[in-house]
Amino acid sequence: MKKQVKTASVAIKGKPVLEAGKCSLESNSKSEVEEEPPSKIIISINLEEEPPGKSATNRYRFFGYIADSSWGDWKWHFRNRITTVEQLTKFIPLTIEEQIQLKLVTQRYPLSVTPYYLSLINPDDPDDPIRKQAIPSILEIAMGMMGLEDPLEEKRDSIVPGLVHRYPDRVLMVLTNICPMLCRHCTRKREWRYGSWVRTPDEVEAMLDYLRQHKTVRDVVISGGDPLTLSTRHLEDIISRIRKISHIEIIRIGTRFPVVLPQRIDDELCAMLSRYGPIWLNTHFNHYREITPEAAAACDRLLRSGVPVNNQSVLLRGVNDTVEIQTKLCQGLLRIKVRPYYLFQCDEVQGTEHLRTPVEVGIKIIEGMRGYTSGLAVPTFVVDLHQGGGKVPLQPNYVLAQAEGQLLLRNYEGHIFRYRNPRAVAYPELAAPVPELAIDSVASLITETELQFQSQGARDESRVIVRS
Ligand code: SF4
Repeated sequence: MKKQVKTASVAIKGKPVLEAGKCSLESNSKSEVEEEPPSKIIISINLEEEPPGKSATNRYRFFGYIADSSWGDWKWHFRNRITTVEQLTKFIPLTIEEQIQLKLVTQRYPLSVTPYYLSLINPDDPDDPIRKQAIPSILEIAMGMMGLEDPLEEKRDSIVPGLVHRYPDRVLMVLTNICPMLCRHCTRKREWRYGSWVRTPDEVEAMLDYLRQHKTVRDVVISGGDPLTLSTRHLEDIISRIRKISHIEIIRIGTRFPVVLPQRIDDELCAMLSRYGPIWLNTHFNHYREITPEAAAACDRLLRSGVPVNNQSVLLRGVNDTVEIQTKLCQGLLRIKVRPYYLFQCDEVQGTEHLRTPVEVGIKIIEGMRGYTSGLAVPTFVVDLHQGGGKVPLQPNYVLAQAEGQLLLRNYEGHIFRYRNPRAVAYPELAAPVPELAIDSVASLITETELQFQSQGARDESRVIVRS
Protein backbone atom coordinates (compact mmCIF):
# COMPACT_ATOMS: atom_id res chain seq x y z
CA MET A 1 0.00 0.00 0.00
CA LYS A 2 1.27 3.38 -0.89
CA LYS A 3 2.26 5.55 2.00
CA GLN A 4 0.71 8.98 1.81
CA VAL A 5 2.44 12.17 2.85
CA LYS A 6 0.06 13.98 5.13
CA THR A 7 0.71 17.47 3.84
CA ALA A 8 3.09 19.07 1.40
CA SER A 9 4.03 21.76 3.84
CA VAL A 10 7.31 23.34 4.77
CA ALA A 11 8.57 23.74 8.28
CA ILE A 12 7.43 27.31 8.67
CA LYS A 13 4.49 28.33 10.73
CA GLY A 14 1.62 30.03 8.95
CA LYS A 15 1.32 27.10 6.61
CA PRO A 16 -1.17 28.43 4.07
CA VAL A 17 1.40 30.41 2.15
CA LEU A 18 3.59 27.36 1.83
CA GLU A 19 1.13 24.71 0.84
CA ALA A 20 1.43 23.12 -2.53
CA GLY A 21 0.32 25.26 -5.39
CA LYS A 22 -1.20 27.89 -3.17
CA CYS A 23 1.62 29.80 -1.71
CA SER A 24 3.17 33.12 -2.39
CA LEU A 25 6.79 34.12 -2.15
CA GLU A 26 5.67 36.80 0.27
CA SER A 27 5.86 34.11 2.89
CA ASN A 28 6.94 36.41 5.66
CA SER A 29 3.51 37.94 5.75
CA LYS A 30 2.27 38.86 9.20
CA SER A 31 -0.19 35.98 9.39
CA GLU A 32 2.49 33.31 9.37
CA VAL A 33 4.73 34.90 11.95
CA GLU A 34 3.96 33.82 15.44
CA GLU A 35 7.10 34.56 17.36
CA GLU A 36 8.64 37.73 16.01
CA PRO A 37 6.84 39.71 13.36
CA PRO A 38 8.83 41.30 10.56
CA SER A 39 7.82 44.68 11.87
CA LYS A 40 10.32 44.10 14.64
CA ILE A 41 13.09 44.36 12.08
CA ILE A 42 14.29 47.91 12.33
CA ILE A 43 17.75 49.05 11.59
CA SER A 44 19.83 49.54 14.66
CA ILE A 45 20.48 53.24 15.12
CA ASN A 46 23.53 52.53 17.19
CA LEU A 47 25.90 51.04 14.63
CA GLU A 48 28.06 49.04 16.97
CA GLU A 49 31.11 47.22 15.76
CA GLU A 50 30.67 43.49 15.82
CA PRO A 51 32.64 41.62 18.48
CA PRO A 52 35.74 40.21 16.80
CA GLY A 53 35.78 36.50 16.15
CA LYS A 54 32.14 35.89 16.97
CA SER A 55 30.80 36.31 13.48
CA ALA A 56 32.13 37.35 10.12
CA THR A 57 28.99 39.25 9.33
CA ASN A 58 27.33 42.63 9.84
CA ARG A 59 24.86 41.05 12.21
CA TYR A 60 25.58 43.54 14.95
CA ARG A 61 25.25 46.47 12.58
CA PHE A 62 21.91 45.40 11.15
CA PHE A 63 20.40 43.05 13.70
CA GLY A 64 22.22 43.73 16.95
CA TYR A 65 18.96 43.80 18.87
CA ILE A 66 17.94 40.28 17.77
CA ALA A 67 18.40 37.67 20.49
CA ASP A 68 20.92 34.91 19.87
CA SER A 69 18.12 32.37 20.15
CA SER A 70 16.31 33.99 17.22
CA TRP A 71 19.45 34.55 15.19
CA GLY A 72 20.31 30.87 15.58
CA ASP A 73 16.83 29.78 14.52
CA TRP A 74 16.50 29.25 10.77
CA LYS A 75 12.73 29.59 10.95
CA TRP A 76 13.13 33.10 12.34
CA HIS A 77 15.31 34.02 9.37
CA PHE A 78 12.92 32.41 6.93
CA ARG A 79 9.93 34.25 8.33
CA ASN A 80 11.79 37.52 8.34
CA ARG A 81 13.15 37.48 4.82
CA ILE A 82 13.44 40.86 3.17
CA THR A 83 11.03 40.76 0.26
CA THR A 84 10.11 44.37 -0.49
CA VAL A 85 12.03 47.42 -1.59
CA GLU A 86 10.67 49.29 1.43
CA GLN A 87 12.20 46.74 3.80
CA LEU A 88 15.44 46.78 1.86
CA THR A 89 15.87 50.54 2.19
CA LYS A 90 16.14 50.10 5.95
CA PHE A 91 19.43 48.32 5.43
CA ILE A 92 20.85 49.38 2.06
CA PRO A 93 21.01 53.05 1.05
CA LEU A 94 19.01 53.42 -2.17
CA THR A 95 18.26 56.60 -4.06
CA ILE A 96 14.66 57.32 -5.06
CA GLU A 97 15.57 56.42 -8.63
CA GLU A 98 17.06 53.11 -7.51
CA GLN A 99 13.97 52.36 -5.46
CA ILE A 100 11.74 52.98 -8.49
CA GLN A 101 13.95 50.77 -10.64
CA LEU A 102 13.97 47.98 -8.07
CA LYS A 103 10.20 48.08 -7.79
CA LEU A 104 9.97 47.68 -11.55
CA VAL A 105 12.34 44.73 -11.52
CA THR A 106 10.65 42.99 -8.60
CA GLN A 107 7.34 43.04 -10.44
CA ARG A 108 8.91 40.52 -12.80
CA TYR A 109 11.64 38.96 -10.66
CA PRO A 110 10.82 39.05 -6.94
CA LEU A 111 13.23 39.82 -4.13
CA SER A 112 13.95 37.57 -1.16
CA VAL A 113 17.00 37.79 1.11
CA THR A 114 17.48 36.20 4.51
CA PRO A 115 18.58 38.52 7.33
CA TYR A 116 21.67 36.33 7.68
CA TYR A 117 22.73 36.76 4.02
CA LEU A 118 21.83 40.44 4.08
CA SER A 119 24.24 40.85 6.99
CA LEU A 120 27.08 39.72 4.70
CA ILE A 121 26.54 42.69 2.38
CA ASN A 122 28.65 45.82 2.68
CA PRO A 123 25.86 48.40 2.37
CA ASP A 124 28.31 51.14 1.44
CA ASP A 125 29.61 49.37 -1.66
CA PRO A 126 27.26 49.32 -4.67
CA ASP A 127 29.58 46.78 -6.32
CA ASP A 128 29.69 44.44 -3.36
CA PRO A 129 29.85 40.85 -4.70
CA ILE A 130 27.40 39.56 -2.09
CA ARG A 131 24.96 42.34 -2.92
CA LYS A 132 25.09 41.50 -6.63
CA GLN A 133 23.86 37.99 -5.90
CA ALA A 134 20.96 39.10 -3.72
CA ILE A 135 19.75 42.58 -4.66
CA PRO A 136 17.94 43.05 -7.98
CA SER A 137 19.44 45.13 -10.78
CA ILE A 138 17.55 47.13 -13.40
CA LEU A 139 19.66 45.25 -15.95
CA GLU A 140 17.56 42.15 -15.25
CA ILE A 141 14.79 43.72 -17.27
CA ALA A 142 16.83 46.20 -19.35
CA MET A 143 18.70 43.24 -20.88
CA GLY A 144 15.75 40.92 -20.35
CA MET A 145 15.25 40.15 -24.03
CA MET A 146 18.55 38.29 -24.11
CA GLY A 147 18.67 34.62 -23.22
CA LEU A 148 16.01 31.98 -22.84
CA GLU A 149 13.41 31.18 -20.20
CA ASP A 150 14.37 27.54 -19.88
CA PRO A 151 17.72 27.16 -21.67
CA LEU A 152 18.34 23.68 -20.31
CA GLU A 153 14.89 22.57 -21.50
CA GLU A 154 14.20 20.89 -18.19
CA LYS A 155 10.49 20.98 -18.89
CA ARG A 156 11.01 18.91 -22.04
CA ASP A 157 13.01 16.30 -20.13
CA SER A 158 10.49 16.03 -17.29
CA ILE A 159 9.17 12.49 -17.46
CA VAL A 160 6.62 13.05 -14.72
CA PRO A 161 6.06 16.47 -13.14
CA GLY A 162 9.21 17.38 -11.23
CA LEU A 163 11.37 14.48 -12.41
CA VAL A 164 14.05 15.23 -15.02
CA HIS A 165 15.66 12.15 -16.57
CA ARG A 166 18.38 13.27 -18.94
CA TYR A 167 21.37 11.07 -18.20
CA PRO A 168 21.21 7.26 -18.19
CA ASP A 169 21.84 6.49 -14.52
CA ARG A 170 20.61 9.55 -12.64
CA VAL A 171 17.55 11.71 -12.25
CA LEU A 172 16.77 15.15 -10.89
CA MET A 173 13.85 15.40 -8.48
CA VAL A 174 12.50 18.95 -8.08
CA LEU A 175 10.42 19.01 -4.90
CA THR A 176 9.64 22.71 -4.58
CA ASN A 177 10.44 26.06 -6.14
CA ILE A 178 10.81 27.81 -2.77
CA CYS A 179 14.24 29.12 -1.81
CA PRO A 180 15.31 31.08 1.25
CA MET A 181 17.00 33.56 -1.04
CA LEU A 182 16.25 34.35 -4.67
CA CYS A 183 19.68 34.43 -6.32
CA ARG A 184 19.77 36.94 -9.14
CA HIS A 185 21.60 34.47 -11.39
CA CYS A 186 19.20 31.57 -10.85
CA THR A 187 18.72 29.18 -13.77
CA ARG A 188 15.13 28.55 -12.70
CA LYS A 189 14.20 32.22 -12.50
CA ARG A 190 11.25 31.45 -14.76
CA GLU A 191 9.57 29.70 -11.84
CA TRP A 192 9.48 32.76 -9.61
CA ARG A 193 6.46 34.39 -11.13
CA TYR A 194 4.21 31.35 -10.86
CA GLY A 195 4.00 31.64 -7.07
CA SER A 196 5.50 29.12 -4.69
CA TRP A 197 4.71 25.45 -4.79
CA VAL A 198 5.65 22.18 -3.16
CA ARG A 199 5.04 18.85 -4.91
CA THR A 200 1.82 17.23 -3.79
CA PRO A 201 1.82 13.75 -2.24
CA ASP A 202 0.44 12.35 -5.52
CA GLU A 203 3.22 13.99 -7.53
CA VAL A 204 5.86 12.60 -5.18
CA GLU A 205 4.31 9.16 -5.43
CA ALA A 206 4.38 9.37 -9.25
CA MET A 207 8.09 10.23 -9.11
CA LEU A 208 8.80 7.32 -6.78
CA ASP A 209 6.83 4.97 -9.05
CA TYR A 210 8.99 6.02 -11.96
CA LEU A 211 12.14 5.35 -9.92
CA ARG A 212 10.90 1.90 -8.87
CA GLN A 213 10.29 0.97 -12.50
CA HIS A 214 13.60 2.25 -13.89
CA LYS A 215 16.34 0.05 -12.55
CA THR A 216 19.11 1.82 -14.46
CA VAL A 217 18.70 4.82 -12.16
CA ARG A 218 21.25 4.58 -9.35
CA ASP A 219 21.61 8.24 -8.37
CA VAL A 220 18.81 10.64 -7.37
CA VAL A 221 19.53 14.35 -7.14
CA ILE A 222 17.00 16.12 -4.93
CA SER A 223 16.85 19.78 -5.80
CA GLY A 224 14.53 22.74 -6.20
CA GLY A 225 14.07 25.53 -5.48
CA ASP A 226 15.73 24.42 -2.32
CA PRO A 227 14.58 21.08 -0.92
CA LEU A 228 15.71 22.00 2.60
CA THR A 229 12.81 24.47 2.76
CA LEU A 230 10.72 21.35 3.42
CA SER A 231 10.45 20.36 7.03
CA THR A 232 12.91 17.72 8.17
CA ARG A 233 10.02 15.33 8.74
CA HIS A 234 8.63 15.88 5.27
CA LEU A 235 12.06 15.45 3.74
CA GLU A 236 12.63 12.27 5.73
CA ASP A 237 9.37 10.84 4.48
CA ILE A 238 10.55 11.25 0.86
CA ILE A 239 14.17 10.22 1.43
CA SER A 240 13.20 7.11 3.39
CA ARG A 241 10.96 5.99 0.53
CA ILE A 242 13.72 6.56 -2.02
CA ARG A 243 16.05 4.55 0.20
CA LYS A 244 13.68 1.57 0.05
CA ILE A 245 14.27 1.31 -3.72
CA SER A 246 17.13 -1.17 -3.82
CA HIS A 247 18.76 -0.03 -7.08
CA ILE A 248 19.11 3.58 -5.89
CA GLU A 249 22.69 3.71 -4.63
CA ILE A 250 23.20 7.35 -3.75
CA ILE A 251 21.09 10.40 -3.01
CA ARG A 252 22.39 13.90 -3.60
CA ILE A 253 20.84 17.03 -2.20
CA GLY A 254 21.34 20.37 -3.95
CA THR A 255 20.93 23.23 -1.49
CA ARG A 256 22.21 26.74 -0.91
CA PHE A 257 21.19 26.75 2.76
CA PRO A 258 24.77 26.36 4.09
CA VAL A 259 25.54 29.66 2.33
CA VAL A 260 22.40 31.76 2.68
CA LEU A 261 20.94 30.37 5.91
CA PRO A 262 23.40 27.96 7.57
CA GLN A 263 21.28 27.79 10.73
CA ARG A 264 19.04 25.35 8.79
CA ILE A 265 21.74 22.69 9.07
CA ASP A 266 20.70 21.80 12.61
CA ASP A 267 21.18 18.66 14.66
CA GLU A 268 17.76 17.29 13.78
CA LEU A 269 18.42 17.55 10.04
CA CYS A 270 21.93 16.09 10.34
CA ALA A 271 20.71 13.16 12.45
CA MET A 272 18.03 12.43 9.87
CA LEU A 273 20.45 12.56 6.93
CA SER A 274 22.88 10.29 8.75
CA ARG A 275 20.22 7.57 8.88
CA TYR A 276 19.81 7.33 5.09
CA GLY A 277 23.33 7.50 3.71
CA PRO A 278 25.08 7.51 1.41
CA ILE A 279 23.78 11.04 0.97
CA TRP A 280 25.95 13.68 -0.66
CA LEU A 281 25.27 17.37 -0.46
CA ASN A 282 26.11 19.90 -3.15
CA THR A 283 26.06 23.51 -2.09
CA HIS A 284 26.72 26.82 -3.79
CA PHE A 285 29.36 29.18 -2.40
CA ASN A 286 30.30 31.84 -4.96
CA HIS A 287 32.62 34.12 -3.00
CA TYR A 288 35.11 33.63 -0.18
CA ARG A 289 33.26 36.16 1.99
CA GLU A 290 30.38 33.69 2.16
CA ILE A 291 32.64 31.31 4.13
CA THR A 292 31.67 32.65 7.54
CA PRO A 293 32.01 30.90 10.92
CA GLU A 294 28.31 30.07 10.67
CA ALA A 295 28.68 28.52 7.21
CA ALA A 296 31.80 26.62 8.27
CA ALA A 297 29.97 25.23 11.31
CA ALA A 298 27.05 24.11 9.13
CA CYS A 299 29.39 22.24 6.77
CA ASP A 300 31.20 20.73 9.74
CA ARG A 301 27.92 19.41 11.16
CA LEU A 302 27.12 17.78 7.82
CA LEU A 303 30.55 16.23 7.52
CA ARG A 304 30.40 14.85 11.05
CA SER A 305 27.06 13.28 10.12
CA GLY A 306 28.68 11.40 7.27
CA VAL A 307 27.44 13.72 4.52
CA PRO A 308 30.24 14.76 2.12
CA VAL A 309 29.85 18.35 0.96
CA ASN A 310 30.82 19.54 -2.53
CA ASN A 311 30.56 23.02 -3.96
CA GLN A 312 29.12 24.12 -7.29
CA SER A 313 29.76 27.78 -7.92
CA VAL A 314 28.55 29.91 -10.80
CA LEU A 315 30.94 32.22 -12.59
CA LEU A 316 29.48 35.72 -12.27
CA ARG A 317 30.63 39.03 -13.68
CA GLY A 318 31.81 41.34 -10.92
CA VAL A 319 31.33 38.67 -8.28
CA ASN A 320 33.94 35.96 -8.74
CA ASP A 321 35.38 36.43 -12.23
CA THR A 322 39.08 36.62 -11.33
CA VAL A 323 41.75 34.06 -10.58
CA GLU A 324 42.41 35.71 -7.25
CA ILE A 325 38.82 35.49 -6.01
CA GLN A 326 38.31 31.93 -7.26
CA THR A 327 41.57 30.82 -5.66
CA LYS A 328 40.64 32.39 -2.33
CA LEU A 329 37.18 30.85 -2.55
CA CYS A 330 38.41 27.35 -3.35
CA GLN A 331 41.25 27.42 -0.83
CA GLY A 332 38.76 28.62 1.79
CA LEU A 333 36.42 25.76 0.89
CA LEU A 334 39.19 23.21 1.35
CA ARG A 335 39.93 24.68 4.77
CA ILE A 336 36.36 23.87 5.81
CA LYS A 337 36.67 20.47 4.09
CA VAL A 338 34.28 21.28 1.24
CA ARG A 339 35.47 20.12 -2.16
CA PRO A 340 35.26 22.59 -5.05
CA TYR A 341 33.44 20.45 -7.62
CA TYR A 342 32.06 22.53 -10.49
CA LEU A 343 32.51 26.09 -11.67
CA PHE A 344 29.51 26.68 -13.93
CA GLN A 345 29.36 29.08 -16.80
CA CYS A 346 26.30 31.21 -15.98
CA ASP A 347 23.44 29.76 -18.01
CA GLU A 348 21.83 31.66 -20.83
CA VAL A 349 18.82 32.60 -18.71
CA GLN A 350 16.63 35.63 -19.29
CA GLY A 351 17.29 38.24 -16.62
CA THR A 352 20.88 37.17 -15.95
CA GLU A 353 22.76 38.51 -18.97
CA HIS A 354 24.43 41.29 -17.00
CA LEU A 355 26.05 38.68 -14.76
CA ARG A 356 27.34 36.45 -17.55
CA THR A 357 30.98 36.31 -18.63
CA PRO A 358 32.59 35.11 -21.86
CA VAL A 359 33.54 31.42 -21.68
CA GLU A 360 37.19 32.43 -22.07
CA VAL A 361 37.10 34.00 -18.58
CA GLY A 362 36.35 30.62 -17.01
CA ILE A 363 39.10 28.90 -18.98
CA LYS A 364 41.59 31.60 -17.98
CA ILE A 365 40.61 31.21 -14.34
CA ILE A 366 41.22 27.46 -14.44
CA GLU A 367 44.53 28.09 -16.20
CA GLY A 368 45.48 30.58 -13.48
CA MET A 369 44.70 28.08 -10.74
CA ARG A 370 46.00 24.79 -12.16
CA GLY A 371 49.52 24.21 -10.94
CA TYR A 372 49.53 27.30 -8.74
CA THR A 373 47.40 25.75 -6.01
CA SER A 374 46.41 22.26 -4.87
CA GLY A 375 44.72 20.25 -7.60
CA LEU A 376 41.95 19.54 -5.10
CA ALA A 377 41.16 23.25 -5.09
CA VAL A 378 40.62 23.43 -8.85
CA PRO A 379 36.99 22.87 -9.87
CA THR A 380 35.89 21.56 -13.25
CA PHE A 381 34.68 24.44 -15.41
CA VAL A 382 31.54 23.40 -17.27
CA VAL A 383 29.06 24.82 -19.69
CA ASP A 384 25.57 23.37 -19.39
CA LEU A 385 24.37 23.26 -22.97
CA HIS A 386 21.02 24.65 -23.87
CA GLN A 387 18.39 22.35 -25.42
CA GLY A 388 19.29 19.78 -22.78
CA GLY A 389 22.66 18.93 -24.32
CA GLY A 390 24.19 18.37 -20.90
CA LYS A 391 27.40 19.53 -19.24
CA VAL A 392 30.57 20.05 -21.24
CA PRO A 393 33.83 20.44 -19.31
CA LEU A 394 36.11 23.12 -20.71
CA GLN A 395 39.82 23.15 -19.99
CA PRO A 396 42.79 25.22 -21.08
CA ASN A 397 44.47 23.42 -23.95
CA TYR A 398 47.61 21.70 -22.72
CA VAL A 399 48.01 19.37 -25.75
CA LEU A 400 49.85 21.30 -28.45
CA ALA A 401 50.34 18.42 -30.83
CA GLN A 402 49.85 14.67 -30.99
CA ALA A 403 51.44 11.97 -33.12
CA GLU A 404 51.84 8.21 -32.96
CA GLY A 405 53.69 7.49 -29.71
CA GLN A 406 54.19 11.05 -28.58
CA LEU A 407 52.55 14.25 -27.45
CA LEU A 408 53.69 17.82 -27.24
CA LEU A 409 52.37 19.16 -23.94
CA ARG A 410 52.41 22.56 -22.29
CA ASN A 411 52.68 22.76 -18.51
CA TYR A 412 51.11 25.37 -16.24
CA GLU A 413 54.12 27.68 -16.57
CA GLY A 414 54.00 27.60 -20.35
CA HIS A 415 56.98 25.27 -20.71
CA ILE A 416 56.61 22.75 -23.48
CA PHE A 417 57.47 19.07 -23.15
CA ARG A 418 57.67 16.17 -25.54
CA TYR A 419 55.97 13.23 -23.84
CA ARG A 420 56.48 9.59 -24.89
CA ASN A 421 53.06 7.99 -25.16
CA PRO A 422 52.75 4.17 -24.89
CA ARG A 423 51.44 2.64 -28.12
CA ALA A 424 47.70 1.99 -28.21
CA VAL A 425 47.90 -1.56 -29.63
CA ALA A 426 46.29 -3.06 -26.51
CA TYR A 427 43.40 -0.63 -26.85
CA PRO A 428 41.80 -1.21 -30.25
CA GLU A 429 39.10 1.33 -29.47
CA LEU A 430 41.84 3.96 -29.60
CA ALA A 431 43.04 2.78 -33.02
CA ALA A 432 41.61 5.85 -34.74
CA PRO A 433 42.99 8.72 -32.66
CA VAL A 434 41.94 12.31 -33.03
CA PRO A 435 43.51 13.96 -36.11
CA GLU A 436 47.21 14.14 -35.55
CA LEU A 437 49.21 17.29 -35.75
CA ALA A 438 52.79 16.94 -36.86
CA ILE A 439 54.73 17.41 -33.65
CA ASP A 440 57.93 18.41 -35.35
CA SER A 441 56.23 21.06 -37.44
CA VAL A 442 54.55 22.47 -34.33
CA ALA A 443 57.86 22.38 -32.50
CA SER A 444 59.65 24.10 -35.35
CA LEU A 445 56.92 26.69 -35.53
CA ILE A 446 57.54 27.39 -31.88
CA THR A 447 61.26 27.62 -32.61
CA GLU A 448 60.64 30.05 -35.42
CA THR A 449 58.80 32.28 -33.03
CA GLU A 450 62.02 32.56 -31.06
CA LEU A 451 61.30 30.03 -28.38
CA GLN A 452 64.24 28.04 -27.11
CA PHE A 453 64.54 24.27 -26.96
CA GLN A 454 66.36 22.95 -23.96
CA SER A 455 67.30 19.37 -23.38
CA GLN A 456 67.37 17.92 -19.92
CA GLY A 457 70.45 15.87 -20.76
CA ALA A 458 71.06 12.22 -21.43
CA ARG A 459 68.63 10.98 -18.81
CA ASP A 460 65.76 12.72 -20.53
CA GLU A 461 66.78 12.94 -24.12
CA SER A 462 63.34 12.11 -25.38
CA ARG A 463 61.93 14.88 -23.28
CA VAL A 464 62.51 18.15 -25.03
CA ILE A 465 61.51 21.24 -23.19
CA VAL A 466 60.56 24.24 -25.18
CA ARG A 467 60.90 27.22 -22.92
CA SER A 468 59.47 30.59 -23.61
S1 SF4 B 1 19.23 28.66 -4.21
FE1 SF4 B 1 19.50 27.80 -6.26
S2 SF4 B 1 17.42 27.42 -7.02
FE2 SF4 B 1 17.27 28.85 -5.28
S3 SF4 B 1 17.30 30.89 -6.19
FE3 SF4 B 1 19.41 30.37 -5.62
S4 SF4 B 1 20.28 29.49 -7.52
FE4 SF4 B 1 18.03 29.46 -7.74
